[in-house]
Amino acid sequence: MLDQMTTENHVPAAGVSRRVFLAWAAVAAGVAAVPAWARAGRAGTLLEWREFAPGVFANVDTNTGGNVLAVVGRGRTLVVDTKFPFLADAIRADAASVGEPGNDLLMVNTHHHGDHTGGNIGFVGRGETMAHENALPRIEEQYDTYMTWIPTAVMQAKQRAPGNDEVLARAEKLAEKADDLTAKSWLPERAAGREERLNLGGMTAQIAHHGAGHTDNDLVVHIPEANLVHTGDLVFNSFVPFFDADAGVTARGWVRSLRAIERLCDDQTIVVPGHGRVGDRQIVVSQIEFMEKLLEAVQGEIDAGVSKEDARVKQFDFMRGLGFSNFSARAIDAVYDELATSAG
Ligand SMILES: [Zn+2]
Repeated sequence: MLDQMTTENHVPAAGVSRRVFLAWAAVAAGVAAVPAWARAGRAGTLLEWREFAPGVFANVDTNTGGNVLAVVGRGRTLVVDTKFPFLADAIRADAASVGEPGNDLLMVNTHHHGDHTGGNIGFVGRGETMAHENALPRIEEQYDTYMTWIPTAVMQAKQRAPGNDEVLARAEKLAEKADDLTAKSWLPERAAGREERLNLGGMTAQIAHHGAGHTDNDLVVHIPEANLVHTGDLVFNSFVPFFDADAGVTARGWVRSLRAIERLCDDQTIVVPGHGRVGDRQIVVSQIEFMEKLLEAVQGEIDAGVSKEDARVKQFDFMRGLGFSNFSARAIDAVYDELATSAG
C-alpha cells in the first residue's frame, strides 16, 4: 500500500507525466559540479546556494525543480522561481538570509509550470510578486495539481532533500495548513510589464517576454550589473527540452527568444538555465542549434512522407547523450504539428 501510495502520489509538475518527473530525479545524480568560477555556498542556508556573481545566488538542483535565483540589492531581494510547495518556506528563509537583513522579498516566475511556481505560496501576499499576463490564469488553473502536492510534502522532503531536518520540519507545517490554501495562494499579484525594470537598490532586474517559445508566457530575467541572465526553461542545459503542447509551445518562437537572450550575452555572461548546470553564452547557442536541428529533422520526415506516429519514435543523432531522453517523442510531436500546420 505504501508503495502504491508513493507511486500514485509521487506527483510531478503540472502537465508533466509521472514518468517524466521520475526521469528528472534519475538525471539529478548526473548534474555536473558547479563551474570553477562559482563561489562557495553561504553557510546557514537550508538549501545549497552558490554566489555566481556578487549578490546573485542560485540554487541549482535538477532533483527539486527549476533553478532558483536570489538577487540581493540594498533594501530588496528578488527571487526568480520557487520550485515545489514543500520548498516554499525554505526558499523564502534562504532568500532572506543571503540578503541584507530586513530586505523586502520580491518574486517573479519565469513561466507557469508547476516546478517553477509550486513554492509561490511562500511569497504571494507577502511582497511584490509577478508573472507574465498569460501565466496568471494558467497558475490559477493549476490549483488542483498544487493541492495534490500538499499532503505529499513530507514525503517529497524526505525523498528530495534527504537528511535535511529543517526542510522536513517546514514540509510538516505545510501539510498541516492545507485548509488555508486557495487558488489565490499561488497567484502572483500582478502581470509583469512589457519591459519590466525592477530597481533592487544597486542591482537591477530587467524582465522581458520575447513571444511564445517554451510556453506562451516565458520571461527572461537579466541582471546587467552582474552580467547574468536567468533564461527560465528556454534553456535546458544538456537535456532534451520539455515541449508542452497545451502551453503554446513553438520551436520557431523558441529560437527567436533564444536569439534575444544571445544578444544579452558577451563572453563573460553567466547563464542560469531553467534546468541543468549554470553555464555561459555557449549553452544558449547549443539550445539554438538543438532547435534548428530539430526543426530541420522533422521537416525532413514530413517531406519524406513519414507519419507523425513513425517520426515521434526516432532518435536523431543530435539528441543522443542528452538527459530527459524520454522528452524526445513529445518534442518531435509538437514540432511535427507546428510544421504541418504552417505548411499550408
Ligand atoms: Zn517549463
